[in-house]
Amino acid sequence: MSHIPTTPIGRFAPTPSGKLHIGNIFAALIAYLSVKSKGGKFLVRIEDLDRPRCPRSNADEILSELHMFGLDSDGEVLYQSERSRVYEKYANGLTDMGLTYPCFCSRAELHAAEAPHESDGSYIYGGKCRSLSLDERAELKKKRSPALRVRVPDEDVTFDDMILGRFTQNLARECGDFIIRRSDGVYAYQLAVAVDDALSGVTEVVRGSDLISSTPRQIWLLKKLGFEPPAYGHLPLLTAADGRRLSKRDGDCISSYLSDFPPEKIIGILARAACLTPTASPVAPKELIALYDPKKLPKSARILTE
Ligand code: GLU
Repeated sequence: MSHIPTTPIGRFAPTPSGKLHIGNIFAALIAYLSVKSKGGKFLVRIEDLDRPRCPRSNADEILSELHMFGLDSDGEVLYQSERSRVYEKYANGLTDMGLTYPCFCSRAELHAAEAPHESDGSYIYGGKCRSLSLDERAELKKKRSPALRVRVPDEDVTFDDMILGRFTQNLARECGDFIIRRSDGVYAYQLAVAVDDALSGVTEVVRGSDLISSTPRQIWLLKKLGFEPPAYGHLPLLTAADGRRLSKRDGDCISSYLSDFPPEKIIGILARAACLTPTASPVAPKELIALYDPKKLPKSARILTE
């Protein structure tokens, strides 16, 4: 079942729970340049799994902003909210392999019992529901609908990041058993991303370095499901001109940039932040394709607007 694509395919996969941030456009631009520099295709996927938090109007605004920048999808735009049947099939596949179990823990129980993950504040599951008997499960099911977790092995996953170099994570110690379907039936990010990247034939994932700790889980899921994982590149997170962290409140939303600058100027600012150009002169993404070199990308980047 392994997928051997012939065309390089990259993607940008925003979550429309709010507006696009200047850092999101940076990620979209570099994902676009990386795959276009190999003669490939750039896809856009809307990660609106959490439907109530992701109104369609936000997705529409994101797509129209991407269009203004010249970062349109080369193929059909996928909406994860419409794909739960697809995720169900792969979740069932993991269950058939004996890799999942129902978890009845409430959020409060989880927070009380577990140590926060060092890097991102998430929790490593202590395994309370890992070895419940069938009777215990049946009893608990009367009171609460369970989430579905995957059982991860005590195994290191290593990959060579296209930008940051070699990265290793031990699944049991650094991630723990993770949720692939929430108790309300909504499929979780890790599974949906892995499945969609595989089924879209994605050969490279370029995204912010805040997501690097998810990559070993996605690689592991892909391998279990019989897919070849793509290449991954994680970008330095942008900071504002004065070094502060970007935030939606501080006018870092792309809509606020667009009220001050034309799209080509914003691309120029981002191209300079990526060290692809010496100045922030207005430029279109397609004019940067020939200049793209992942080795030029800085380990940390600031956006300077002057
Ligand atoms: N939807 C995720 C986000 O907006 C990105 C997922 C990905 O690129 O894998 O943070």
